[in-house]
Amino acid sequence: MNKKEFPLTPMELENVIKKFPTPFHIYEERKIRQNMRRLQKAFAWAPLFREYFAVKALPTPHILQIIKAEGGGADCSSLPELILAEQAGICADKIMFSSNDTPYQEYQKAFSLQANINLDDISHIAYLEKYAGLPELICFRYNPGPSIKGNAFIGEPAEAKYGLTRDQMFEAYRIMRDKGVKRFGVHAMVLSNSLQVNTFVEIAEMVFSLAAELHTKLHIPIEFINLGGGIGIPYRPEEVEFDVEALGRQLQERYQSILASVGLTKTAIYLESGRFISGPAGYLVSTVLHKKETYKNYVGLDASMADLMRPGMYKAYHHITISGKEAVKPSYLCDVTGSLCENNDKFAIDRLLPPVDIGDRLIIYDTGAHGRSMGFNYNGKLRCAELLLREDGTVVQIRRAETIDDYFATLRGFSGSLL
Ligand SMILES: *Cc1c(COP(=O)(O)O)cnc(C)c1O
Repeated sequence: MNKKEFPLTPMELENVIKKFPTPFHIYEERKIRQNMRRLQKAFAWAPLFREYFAVKALPTPHILQIIKAEGGGADCSSLPELILAEQAGICADKIMFSSNDTPYQEYQKAFSLQANINLDDISHIAYLEKYAGLPELICFRYNPGPSIKGNAFIGEPAEAKYGLTRDQMFEAYRIMRDKGVKRFGVHAMVLSNSLQVNTFVEIAEMVFSLAAELHTKLHIPIEFINLGGGIGIPYRPEEVEFDVEALGRQLQERYQSILASVGLTKTAIYLESGRFISGPAGYLVSTVLHKKETYKNYVGLDASMADLMRPGMYKAYHHITISGKEAVKPSYLCDVTGSLCENNDKFAIDRLLPPVDIGDRLIIYDTGAHGRSMGFNYNGKLRCAELLLREDGTVVQIRRAETIDDYFATLRGFSGSLL
């Protein structure tokens, strides 16, 4: 069980809304810091542990500043994400560049920042060398292919576009070694939103074994092993949260038996968690605009899929409460919708809520990762603002809502523009 609790009382929330109209995402600084510390503590045994926050989960300078203050790095996969990290003062080996199908401009930027570059394919060795040069340190992303089966994967590894095959891994590190590269990392990310510690440990075991084999067969040092992101969060109140402490303990054992036994005693352990760090720290706050009763009951919000895609895109569950009606018995069965002309623009389907009134403030939980950042402008929908609830209880805006001017910006200012 995990408790779904909004950090503001109804009156505090109304005071925030007076200044910042709904819809908006609001993030809790305290929770983000707590999750960073919890992860670091669980891996305190590692010679060096670093959490590279997955910027795509919540790409906002204020958030990256908090991550940096907690000793974290940034996992970037695009040019704007690299620039966000740079502007937050996160640099050099505190940036992990884990991209795929990468344009050369992005490699050049990563190279100039001296980021840890993680190649997604063997063919990118020549591409990187041609456009950026050979870095001092190189990392490759491993895809275990059909040797791994199960669910909670990003997709069956054999069907996933990411990473190198096992044979290619050995070939790629050999090529780099022969070119004179002296520092190496190993990367793998096969899981997404997994609540199973055991599955995580199994994957890590496999990656540790591969790193040990690369080390002994090619006589190369392995400076770090990056296990990627993918730690899940309990979106449903009845789900149990991921036991990161157990993960830490079990990986410590595997580290000793698989890595230390072949002499890899200084290899650092990296993670690229996004969801685990900021997911539960975010809430989408929205106002009920309309109620509609046809073949089903519909509760229409002022937010839409542009602000939170996960329910529409993955049928993902996000918990919903009504500010001030926390103690009221749920008895109204409804679909909670946004205003997009797409029938999958629903935050919830057949959800039991307390009786809903127009003007109610609905709180949608766990929106702090892959929420606002996944949004889009389809149907001319403008994405909402982002607020930060500071540890001292104050609320600041960290991203304003999009305006109609933003929407029209790409239609103006070029020859041939009709506007
Ligand atoms: C998306 C992604 C992450 C973060 O995943 P979470 O589910 O948010 O932990 C980390 N690394 C890479 C390479 C990714 O693509």
